[in-house]
Amino acid sequence: MTDPPRPLVAGNWKMNGLGGDGLALAADLARRAASAKGEESPACDLLVCPPATLLWRVAEALGQSPIAVGGQDCHADAKGAHTGDIGAEMLKDAGATYAIVGHSERRAGHSETDALVRAKAEAALGAGLCAIVCIGETEAQYGAGETLGVLEKQLAGSLPKGPGIAPGAAKVVIAYEPIWAIGTGLTPSLDEIARVHAHIRGILGGASAEGGSIRILYGGSVNAANAAEILALEEVNGALVGGASLHADDFWSIARSCP
Ligand code: PEP
Repeated sequence: MTDPPRPLVAGNWKMNGLGGDGLALAADLARRAASAKGEESPACDLLVCPPATLLWRVAEALGQSPIAVGGQDCHADAKGAHTGDIGAEMLKDAGATYAIVGHSERRAGHSETDALVRAKAEAALGAGLCAIVCIGETEAQYGAGETLGVLEKQLAGSLPKGPGIAPGAAKVVIAYEPIWAIGTGLTPSLDEIARVHAHIRGILGGASAEGGSIRILYGGSVNAANAAEILALEEVNGALVGGASLHADDFWSIARSCP
């Protein structure tokens, strides 16, 4: 058995934040991180993923803090004729060290397939970023008891091949986000979350050092009230937080809930 990886609490700001409120939020988090001492410090790594327009300014605001910055998506190509898109190296250049790929809002809203998500994850790794690969079932799939099968297929199709899974395993993070739980206030039961995470760990080869070192985050309506019990579950190595990450008090409280 390998030691569980250090948890990661990541905030996905989505399409929220202008210079005023976004930078104020970043500055607030930086202040909290600077003044937290000993046991007040969250027992996790921290990450915020602002909209691309704020990336470098948030990275600058958090520069002296331990809070990392990530992009919410990246293109599969390094550069080229892709109007409106952002390459992984550009994210890195702007100060990012992570990129979320395959978020359900992109899978659904931009018709992203598993193959494309894999290509994006590989592009992120290629640029030296950690790739947070999102997977999750729909409400109908959940209702039909298809969750584990859906996740298996998504993992098989969207995880980067080879690199990232073997020697650079720490560079890949999985985020299990039931689509029906995102932004709804609903969550699976604790037993369900634990069962899904254990299943994902098994698929990753949890008994090996590589498979055991990949962080598996839970995402979907995590808030200050439910974070402690979710983050305490075995094989839950942190959280991907949407709405609650826009409020410094809530995000900080979630981070401080890490066991
Ligand atoms: C998300 O979109 O990744 C997410 C988890 O959102 P929320 O926390 O708002 O459910």
